[in-house]
Amino acid sequence: MKSLKHLTVIVIILLGGWACQEREHHDTNSEVEDKVAQLLSEMTLDEKIGQMSQVDPGVFGGLENLKEVVRKGELGSVLNLIGAKEVNELQRLAVEESRLGIPLIIGRDVIHGYRTIFPIPLGMAASWNEDLVRESAAIAAKEAASMGINWTFAPMIDVSRDPRWGRIAESAGEDPLLNSMVARAMVQGYQGDDLSDPLTIAACAKHFVGYGAAEGGRDYNTTVISDLQLHNVYLPPFKEAVKAGAATVMTAFNEINGIPASGHQRNIREILKDDYGFDGFVVSDWASIQEMISHGFARDLKHAGELGLAAGVDMEMSSRSYNDHLKELLDEGKVKMEWIDDAVARILRIKFRMGLFDNPYVDESLADSLLVHPQHLEVARKLAEESVVMLKNENNVLPLKKGTKVALIGPLADQPYEQLGTWIFDGDENDSQTVLEAFNEFNGSENVSFAEGLEYSRDKSTNGFAQVEKAIAQSDVVVAVVGEEAILSGEAKSLAELDFVGAQAELLELAASKGKPVVMVVMSGRPAGLYKTQHLASSILYAWHPGTMAGPALANLIFGETAPVGKLPVTFPKGEGQVPVYYAHKMSGRPADASTWTHIDDIPVQAVQHSLGNTNHTLDYGFTPLYPFGFGLSYTSFEYSDLRLSSEAVSEGENLMVTATISNTGDVEGTEIVQLYTRDLVASYTRPVRELKNYQRVTLAPGESKEVYFELEARQLGFYHPDGKFVVEPGQFHVWVAPNAAEGLQAEFELK
Ligand code: BGC
Repeated sequence: MKSLKHLTVIVIILLGGWACQEREHHDTNSEVEDKVAQLLSEMTLDEKIGQMSQVDPGVFGGLENLKEVVRKGELGSVLNLIGAKEVNELQRLAVEESRLGIPLIIGRDVIHGYRTIFPIPLGMAASWNEDLVRESAAIAAKEAASMGINWTFAPMIDVSRDPRWGRIAESAGEDPLLNSMVARAMVQGYQGDDLSDPLTIAACAKHFVGYGAAEGGRDYNTTVISDLQLHNVYLPPFKEAVKAGAATVMTAFNEINGIPASGHQRNIREILKDDYGFDGFVVSDWASIQEMISHGFARDLKHAGELGLAAGVDMEMSSRSYNDHLKELLDEGKVKMEWIDDAVARILRIKFRMGLFDNPYVDESLADSLLVHPQHLEVARKLAEESVVMLKNENNVLPLKKGTKVALIGPLADQPYEQLGTWIFDGDENDSQTVLEAFNEFNGSENVSFAEGLEYSRDKSTNGFAQVEKAIAQSDVVVAVVGEEAILSGEAKSLAELDFVGAQAELLELAASKGKPVVMVVMSGRPAGLYKTQHLASSILYAWHPGTMAGPALANLIFGETAPVGKLPVTFPKGEGQVPVYYAHKMSGRPADASTWTHIDDIPVQAVQHSLGNTNHTLDYGFTPLYPFGFGLSYTSFEYSDLRLSSEAVSEGENLMVTATISNTGDVEGTEIVQLYTRDLVASYTRPVRELKNYQRVTLAPGESKEVYFELEARQLGFYHPDGKFVVEPGQFHVWVAPNAAEGLQAEFELK
């Protein structure tokens, strides 16, 4: 007993010491609040309004102009200022020459890596690997911080159900839970445990809200989102980002049901700030306040500024409505002083939390040792490997044996820049390792016959096909790397058609005609249209844009050093005409019945023969997508059996234990991402046919079986009413433990 007391004392002393030490470096919340209040009380109106502005030096009429404003203490933030030395120079003016010495916050789009480029976010989501996603963001933060950047405009967590939308590449796909996972992982990765650590940066959850629902998949387009969808589909990832401590949130370009997102008082002030308790600051998207004029919501720039501030946008990116008009608006009584004070307090709070007042400068020698560090490349390779989804592997063509004679073809097999994907301002193609380079190294260049066939994806000329034939003649297997270049996805890069562009289908046909197995590797920023070409390949590896380490990652997978684990974060449609198609759809009054459905290969004649009656389907595509959400194969096979529930009924406040046995029925080790779905059979508002509730990875040796447990909380069965109220309603539920959203073992239980 005595010794226990003794131990307690030591622990208390240690903890006390730790707390004191912590305090040396960080301000507590109340210390920060005191400092914010003090500073605010010393600021002039011009200085306050200045804090609420962010500009890009490139569009601000030159650096000299910018320096003047910074010296006056009338600028809060700069975006796209490049280089540690340049940042320090400007920061010095803010800190040492402006009246109050308030540091600038330096923003940049660091979306999926800074110099070391990781897979595009859609690819990261396909890994379903929260730890790796977090690690990639932490690395991106370190590299960016070493260049003087202290704020990234990421993560983008717009639920996206339309592959035509170019920015689906930047999202975590169609599911709120998966977007929430990426939101949490990235916020934690960028910001670390301590935002004042010089190697962490502030995150920005964007675009608030509903940007991914652009009608027709055309970027910036109108969205029509019911309150039911808003609360249950589009908002949850933002709620999660706030919970994870996101320092900032960016408003979106789109309008929602007639109100532009950057002027949406209810969404920003009431939901984000009041309901979610978000105490960081809200930044507009690039000129999205000014764009309320073209939306037809604001009369002019002054009116736009009034609407933006009234809605709760604290900092204006790029356009100048706050700078030019807030003073006047205040005099006229159109905006309140307390709104301005609140906005400035939020911005200062984040600057204090970031430690910018104590440590405004970046160590200019850091970048040399940090950028593309070998350990960063290792993580990039691992994440690229895990992001690849194997859609098909007939006759176990993959993995190939080392030393197999391979014809490597296709316009993306040796494109160091294109494999990086969209939004890579600071990525460098010279760091990239391509598939050709990795194949030569891994398989021996004497076993690799390279002929790209097409110079680029849109190339329609078949002049290079003769070389391809030669390469195939010398080989036993064809690996075709096809898809789309980086420029074909991302912002303002929407497409009406999803099929492979250029003569890529012809290239695949040529490859398939030679009687040798074809492995198709797709690099793309979106789910491509595979319906008309997938039969040409025995195996398909869907690689998204894998980043710097595309080559080694794909070589490792293709030659069996590692096995595919990725699962689709988004449903693959049979064609654009099937969009939107997503797993969590509603039942409808006339659901198509799988039992009367025969899969069709030819459209449309056979489809008519297999018509499903007066049900919810189309004659040509039926009702199933090409590949369901959550789908992905490995080099082994898994069997799901013995689904058990801890009880047939569960009460609110209780947990249900859901157990299933997963067996590796193949010859090699494999990792399976096991998914838990539920359906609320009867509710006050109809619920989706399935909703992802959880998932876990299980690695199994050949022949091995493991029990997988999920603890399902009654709370997880609830949903939001259109007014934002969360309800958990009693009734019958289905539950699945499943390899994807279209299969799995199913049971039923009651929520009492
Ligand atoms: C994009 C944002 C981005 C911003 C700054 C806008 O065009 O929509 O996602 O963060 O530019 O570059």
